[in-house]
Amino acid sequence: MKIEKVLASKLPNVDLENLSFGTVFTDHMFICKYISDSWQEPEIMPYQSISFEPSTSVFHYGQAVFEGMKAYKDNQNKIWLFRPLENYNRINRSSERLQIPKFPEEFFFNGLNELLKIDSDWIQTGIGNSLYVRPFVFASQAGVQASPSVEYTFIIICCPVKSYYGGEVNILIEENFSRAADGGVGFAKAAGNYAAQFYPTSLAQQKGYQQIIWTDAKSHKFLEEAGTMNIFFKINDKLITAPTNDRILDGITRKSVIQIAKDLGIDVEVRPVTVSEIIDAAENKSLKEMFGSGTAVVVSPIKSFGYRNKNFKLPEINNSLADTLKEKITSIQYNLSTDPYGWRHPIV
Ligand SMILES: *Cc1c(COP(=O)(O)O)cnc(C)c1O
Repeated sequence: MKIEKVLASKLPNVDLENLSFGTVFTDHMFICKYISDSWQEPEIMPYQSISFEPSTSVFHYGQAVFEGMKAYKDNQNKIWLFRPLENYNRINRSSERLQIPKFPEEFFFNGLNELLKIDSDWIQTGIGNSLYVRPFVFASQAGVQASPSVEYTFIIICCPVKSYYGGEVNILIEENFSRAADGGVGFAKAAGNYAAQFYPTSLAQQKGYQQIIWTDAKSHKFLEEAGTMNIFFKINDKLITAPTNDRILDGITRKSVIQIAKDLGIDVEVRPVTVSEIIDAAENKSLKEMFGSGTAVVVSPIKSFGYRNKNFKLPEINNSLADTLKEKITSIQYNLSTDPYGWRHPIV
């Protein structure tokens, strides 16, 4: 791998204490091109603008997928990733659905390893501090023919983040718009899935909600995901979440939450969840918690949800299961606890 380092780091000019998410990037990026049927030698180079012809395929047909992961620094300044093989496998599942060639495993892991070492000063110790890592791949062939590109570009960029208190969110059950459909691309981290959510989400925001709970496209009777997070419900002592399928993204945080909850002795049900049972549970007060799960915030408690002009408030509780699960996962991520699952991956 070719490595070109910056002459001077931008880091001294960055206020790591006051960052708005996803706006400041580290000194370097990883880039690899797919040309003539093969991935070329990857490079690490200074973070910089890249230029493409206006006809470049991705601008017209949206053939692009991405990943989101985080790197953490423990108290000995050692850097860790959390279950990165899951991200690697998932970007290739997403790529396959979008007819993008598979990215080689050694390129992905060597690239991450070298990039995180070179930019290690950008990762601060302490819970809440991390480096958000964004691998993505897109069709980079010039020309507007509506067929799969023959050239692709795979890039990894990183930005320092501070975990912010996401606040407890109010969220709207959506029955008109859909995020995903059977046979579609809902399970893939396709760039276009996000673009298609902006408009319905902005309508929900005008009504005072922060996010949408997506229901199934066919009947709108089943609750599937919360914005760009998986969703969990605690009814009495049971934790319930929908099974993954081609409409629901197979979240790594979701998987981790399920595993840890089971090991805490909690009864976890993975099954379709209906709107009506959640309304009933909210009305008869058996609905104790609702939360989203995702890499950015681990778990995000939901304060209330709206359904057909009615608002349902979740009870305020201390020592919530959401908090316990977040604490357990965070402790593994920051190497503050043992890792019986082998989820931590060291940068060496
Ligand atoms: C990325 C994503 C998630 C969360 O996945 P994690 O691996 O837990 O970060 C959930 N739903 C959607 C639609 C996503 O794009």
